[in-house]
Amino acid sequence: RRKWKRVVGVLKELEESCETTVGRLKQVVDAMAVEMHAGLASEGGSKLKMLLTFVDSLPSGSEKGIFYALDLGGTNFRVLRVELGGQRSDLDPDVEQQPIPEQLMTGRSEDLFDFIASSLYQFVEKNDSVQSPITKLLGFTFSFPVKQTSVSSGVLIKWTKGFAIRDMAEKEVAGALQQALTRKGLNMRVSVLVNDTVGTLALGHYHDADTVAAVIIGTGTNACYWERTDAIIKCQGLLTTSGGMVVNMEWGNFWSSHLPRTSYDVKLDAESPNPNDQGFEKMISGMYLGDIVRRVILRMSEESDVFGPVSSRLYVPFTLRTPLMAAMHEDDSPELTQVARILKDFLDIPDIPLKARKLVVKICDVVTRRAARLAAAGIVGILKKIGRDGSGGITGGRSRSDIKMRRTAVAVEGSLYTQYTMFREYLHEALNEILGEDIARHVVIIVTEDGSGTGAALLAASHSSEN
Ligand code: ADP
Repeated sequence: RRKWKRVVGVLKELEESCETTVGRLKQVVDAMAVEMHAGLASEGGSKLKMLLTFVDSLPSGSEKGIFYALDLGGTNFRVLRVELGGQRSDLDPDVEQQPIPEQLMTGRSEDLFDFIASSLYQFVEKNDSVQSPITKLLGFTFSFPVKQTSVSSGVLIKWTKGFAIRDMAEKEVAGALQQALTRKGLNMRVSVLVNDTVGTLALGHYHDADTVAAVIIGTGTNACYWERTDAIIKCQGLLTTSGGMVVNMEWGNFWSSHLPRTSYDVKLDAESPNPNDQGFEKMISGMYLGDIVRRVILRMSEESDVFGPVSSRLYVPFTLRTPLMAAMHEDDSPELTQVARILKDFLDIPDIPLKARKLVVKICDVVTRRAARLAAAGIVGILKKIGRDGSGGITGGRSRSDIKMRRTAVAVEGSLYTQYTMFREYLHEALNEILGEDIARHVVIIVTEDGSGTGAALLAASHSSEN
């Protein structure tokens, strides 16, 4: 009995340190808006990089023609072709995906880009004439940190995700691809170079012109949004026809003392390959949620015998992946048979009482609820920065409910939102709580699919006359 009491104590402590009251969330909202401002004010002014994208117009739906995209950002790369008819239509892109041979991820940049150019050549050959004198336009999604110099050029800041091609440092990314296309004799021009969130925003805007921001919550998390150029103080004299530009926040690196942090977060961060980096991401995204749960179970197991003898598997980082955590969380069988199976198969914890299985579900709930609510606060932070949270613009003594709140759409992608029902529901619930229902009614979340690819092709289309 004493043992069980201890476990309950650990759970209580977890719940308290994960507390996300509306008051706390509003502090996070404010902190996000303030950091955005600081990141726009000066280079290095905030943990938020607030990178310029030079994307100064978003697809409207009137685009016409055939456009290509190349999506490079992980172990696979994808090539894609889309035909646009000029009326906001159902997009039905042709997509092909291919793994990147491992030796190319750490070799010479020419070899990597030649390989990609060959795949593109074969892909184009299937659908169009490669010999055609008309230059084909390509949107290039490159999901690594890039310092952009124009909408179609930028320099790699650093490789991540297992890539380590030394001769790319400081090299212009789109140019490297363009040279490979030319070597291959493919009449194709890299007309935009974008980050995956920017693609998502473009696709969202194509479908719904009220879309002002995009958020990805998958393995990692990031967001971008439409900003007025005069608010981008660090780039004086920045002029665009539209008066605005998409800003890539790199919000995974957001940090604030108002974030509810636990001892598990501290350890996870310290033991990670990038300590003190990506603090927001480490509380929210799919790469980490399962591992936070593993750490809590480990601590409970060490302090009591409710999970039997301490399983050695509990010491192995990332043994409990987030999809498994979600499956346990959403187990609605009366005996929690999924929970029992996953604990047994993946953590070597067999035959624990129902009471202990319920405890595991509760841990998953606490961790996911915090993640989803923080993501919601981040979204409202963006809305606040651009005056779409219903708090601004009170004139002539009108009451808050009189403010005409414009319909505002946010495009969201990533498995946490699309595949994890509890995460999605907690996020929506928090949006309602923070904004209040009157305002929240005007904020719509739209789910886009494959924005990183399709969106890049759309941007190639909408920027085709510019360069
Ligand atoms: P990307 O790697 O491009 O971000 P996704 O958006 O599919 O791709 O996100 C993958 C991440 O989402 C993985 O980290 C995985 O742990 C998590 N994930 C995948 N499916 C689920 C699910 N059903 N429930 C919860 N998390 C999931």
